[in-house]
Amino acid sequence: MTTNNKVIGLYLHIPFCIKKCRYCAFLSYDGAKEYSLHSVYVKALLKEIAHYAKTQALNDYLVDTIFIGGGTPTILAAEEIAEILTACRKSFHVKEDAEITIESNPGTLTEEKLDAYLKMGINRLSIGVQSFDNRLLESLGRIHSKEYFLENYKKARMAGFSNINIDLMFGLPEQSEKLWLETLEQAIALDPEHISFYSLQIEEGTPFYKMHQEGTLTETDDLTDRKMYRQAIDKLTKNAYLPYEISNAAKAGCLSKHNLKYWSLVEYLGLGLGSHSYFQGYRFSNETDLTNYIEQLNVHERTQHFEKLFDPKESPVVVWSHKNTRKEDIAEYLFTGLRRREGISRQDFYERFAVSVDELFEKEIKGHLQNGLMENSSDGGFLRLTADGVDLSNSVMADFV
Ligand code: SF4
Repeated sequence: MTTNNKVIGLYLHIPFCIKKCRYCAFLSYDGAKEYSLHSVYVKALLKEIAHYAKTQALNDYLVDTIFIGGGTPTILAAEEIAEILTACRKSFHVKEDAEITIESNPGTLTEEKLDAYLKMGINRLSIGVQSFDNRLLESLGRIHSKEYFLENYKKARMAGFSNINIDLMFGLPEQSEKLWLETLEQAIALDPEHISFYSLQIEEGTPFYKMHQEGTLTETDDLTDRKMYRQAIDKLTKNAYLPYEISNAAKAGCLSKHNLKYWSLVEYLGLGLGSHSYFQGYRFSNETDLTNYIEQLNVHERTQHFEKLFDPKESPVVVWSHKNTRKEDIAEYLFTGLRRREGISRQDFYERFAVSVDELFEKEIKGHLQNGLMENSSDGGFLRLTADGVDLSNSVMADFV
């Protein structure tokens, strides 16, 4: 096996939760009564990992980040997580000090699990608390209280986790600005290395969507939502958190290396149910039906592929793939890169695409610099969204697609 300097991130999807939250449209199943299904799924995931071990193109890559997301990955037994990571290390060149994150929910963390995670090399813990108000947590359908979260957070620190992210939500029904500010203050007081903050989206197919349709749930108006967002940026900045992406802020040196890949058009391989990938110029995604995902991998076990050239369709669970054109790569680079606070590096853009971003999008850039939605960094090296631009980010980004 040979390696060079190309890096890649691995995303591993664990699609199980104890109970579905009322707003959640993520690909996850309420698996409380189906623990045997967890182990069947893990076996299938191990087979998918083994499939990629045979992919020649991956030999050239060093895995420097792994993100175990969900769902609630911490619902699995610690031994199952260890098995998954061992398989990754066996199949890929995983950097010794790779950033390895696991997403968790208060209610699924124990001292034993936390100790085991650290021993298996997991060095970053992401905890979804969403709010510090018990009434709001209950209305969201979360399985935990504020007190339970605080207990889990303390346990994680005691176990030795020195890189913790906390997920928060704003724009919740019945959430006043005062409640949001209190949640922010309480989160900051805990001194986590990273804070993510998302505005509630009412997604089709969720109980919240149904309630909204029936008129029993009122959406936060845009003005209040934007005000809450700016309050978060202001409070986090004043407390030494760098809002380095639209929904993410971190202490110096604690930016999420894995998530930065998504916003910088760096390659990543998504494994597990419904996962998405960007690799070798292809965008591709996996089967979203749990039974099909498991069955396809069982069938595939009996066939042996030792492909030389990368083709996403060799995977038995890839159901969609598309080879990006240069134009699509440029659009995605801009679309995702503008999410970062530092914005787009003019030099990096030129090095990647052999053309100046200012020449390529002269009209659009000029227009947004004039209307105040975009600005240049003080040294002129970066092009980024202003605070007003962030409020209207979707429409600004659409101009580059
Ligand atoms: S814990 Fe996360 S993934 Fe699971 S149902 Fe709630 S929001 Fe969705």
